[in-house]
Amino acid sequence: MACEKCGHVQEGLKEKFGTKLCSLCNHLSPSEEKDFNEYVSEKIDGSLIETFRKHFHPGEKQKQGMVKKAIKGYPMSRMPFGYLLEKGSLIPAQNSKEIEEIFEEFLNEKISLRTLAERHNLSINGLKKVLRNFTYIGKIKFNNQIYEGEHKPLVSTTLFNHVQNKLEALNIK
Ligand SMILES: [Zn+2]
Repeated sequence: MACEKCGHVQEGLKEKFGTKLCSLCNHLSPSEEKDFNEYVSEKIDGSLIETFRKHFHPGEKQKQGMVKKAIKGYPMSRMPFGYLLEKGSLIPAQNSKEIEEIFEEFLNEKISLRTLAERHNLSINGLKKVLRNFTYIGKIKFNNQIYEGEHKPLVSTTLFNHVQNKLEALNIK
């Protein structure tokens, strides 16, 4: 049987207000019937929350809060530049090579953020977000915790770390 919210297949789905949910969706569901129906009508792609399902253990109150936040913030928000969504997974987009270029250029060239941003059609803030985004090394960050993602990294950890050091050295906030 598949969860009616996320499609996750699990033995022994929980039934609530006549709807069958997996344990994760059930845990996150509101207790009021009206809110509950709205919640169920907003379908999510179960594979997108696989990463969070792994970290979900009923009974650990703090973690549950984090998982809840993560699910709200992560899967349905805008895809990071360089990736696209296919069958519920982040996969490298056609422009994925450009991400590595941006990291390399920032690290190796004497170039202002403005010039680099313009070269890649980004805003300065957008560029800073790219340079700091843990998604590009295959991880997912939320609540200041870093988790292994399920997606392919676009830059090496070494390159990423060098860029973080340079951002810090230049006092770029
Ligand atoms: Zn579910």
